[in-house]
Amino acid sequence: MTIYCANPAAQFFKCQNEIELAVLKVLRSGQYILGIEVDAFENEFAEYLDVKYAIGVANGTDAIEIAIRALDIKPGDEIITVSHTAVATVAAIESAGALPVLVDVDPIFYTLDPSKLNSALSPRTRAVIAVHLYGQPADLEAISNFCKLNDIYLIEDCSQAHGAKWKNKFLGTVGHLGCFSCYPTKNLGAFGDAGIIVSNDKKLAEKVKLLRQYGWQERNISNIPGRNSRLDEIQAAILRVKLKYLNSNNLMRREIAGEYSKSLANLPLNLPNSRLNCEEVFHLYVIRFDNREKLRTHLEKYGIQTGIHYPMPIHMQPAYKSRVKVTGQMETTEKISGEILSLPMYPELSPNELSTVIETINTFFY
Ligand SMILES: *Cc1c(COP(=O)(O)O)cnc(C)c1O
Repeated sequence: MTIYCANPAAQFFKCQNEIELAVLKVLRSGQYILGIEVDAFENEFAEYLDVKYAIGVANGTDAIEIAIRALDIKPGDEIITVSHTAVATVAAIESAGALPVLVDVDPIFYTLDPSKLNSALSPRTRAVIAVHLYGQPADLEAISNFCKLNDIYLIEDCSQAHGAKWKNKFLGTVGHLGCFSCYPTKNLGAFGDAGIIVSNDKKLAEKVKLLRQYGWQERNISNIPGRNSRLDEIQAAILRVKLKYLNSNNLMRREIAGEYSKSLANLPLNLPNSRLNCEEVFHLYVIRFDNREKLRTHLEKYGIQTGIHYPMPIHMQPAYKSRVKVTGQMETTEKISGEILSLPMYPELSPNELSTVIETINTFFY
C-alpha cells in the first residue's frame, strides 16, 4: 500500500460521473478552444473570487508571463520575487524579458521577507511578485505598502493558493493582477495544463485577453504582438465541475492540517505557522527537520511518499545562478531548502491513511 503525497486521480474518482459528462459534452459540441466552457469558467471563477475579470490561459507559467507583459514591462526592467519558489515564477519573469531580482523569505511563513525589499529596489524595479507558497498568504500588507510607496506593480502568484484569503479578500485580488496555475495537483486542478489571470482593472484585463491570442481583437488582425496561450474547452469544463468543490476540498485540507499540527506538536519538528486573520488553504503541509533525509527514508520504507518543495533555491540552480540578481543574504532560503519536507496532503487522504502517516512519523522518534 502506498500513501501518496498528492493524488489528483482521487479527485477524478470522487466526481467521475460529473466530469465524464462534462468532457463528453465538449467532445460532442465541436468547439474545443476558447468557447462557452472557457467563458463560463472565467465568469464563475471571477464571481467566486469577487473580482471583476478572469481570463483563462494555457498554464500558470504563462499566466505570470502574460501578466508581466500586460504591465508593459520592458527588457532590462527588474522584478523582485523570492528564490524559494517553483522555478516557474522566475522562468516566467525571464520569458517576459525582465530581470529576476531574488530576495530571502522569512523563517516563520517561508514567504517574501518585506524587510528585504528596500535593498533590492533599483531605478529599474517595476514590480514585485508575491508568491503565496504552500497556500499561505505572503505579507500582503507590507508588500503592497512597499509597492504603493515606490509606484511599482504588485503581481500575486496564487498557483498554490486558490481560495485562500488575506483578511477578507481572496488572494489574487489584492495586487494589480493575480495569476493561478490549475496544474492537476493544485487546489483547483484540471486534468491537463491550465491557468487563469484575474484583475479588477479593465484595461489590464483587456490587454491580457489580447496577449493570450496573438494580440487579436478581431480574428487574424493582431493589434499588439501576442502569444498563443489559450485555455481549451475540455479543461475549462473540468475546472467548472471542480470549482464547485473548491471550498469543501480546502476545508478538508485544513482539517488534515489541523490533525497533523495537533498530533505532531510534541515532536522535535518545525510545523507550519498561521498568519492572523488569514485563511490559508494548505496546498502543501510542510514541516522542517534537520535530519530530513533520514525521516524521509523511514517514511518511504513504510510506503509513505513525501515531497521536497523545493530542494534547490533558484539562485543556486545551474540555469539561473549566473543570471538572476541577488542583492542580500539568502540565509533562510538556503537553510530551509535542506530541512523542508512535504507530508501527504490532499482532500481525499483518508482518516486511516492520515493516522498511518502520523504513527509512522512517531515511530521514527520512539
Ligand atoms: C505550479 C506553480 C506555477 C506554475 O504553474 P504551471 O501551471 O505548472 O505552469 C507557478 N508558481 C507556483 C508557485 C507554482 O506552484
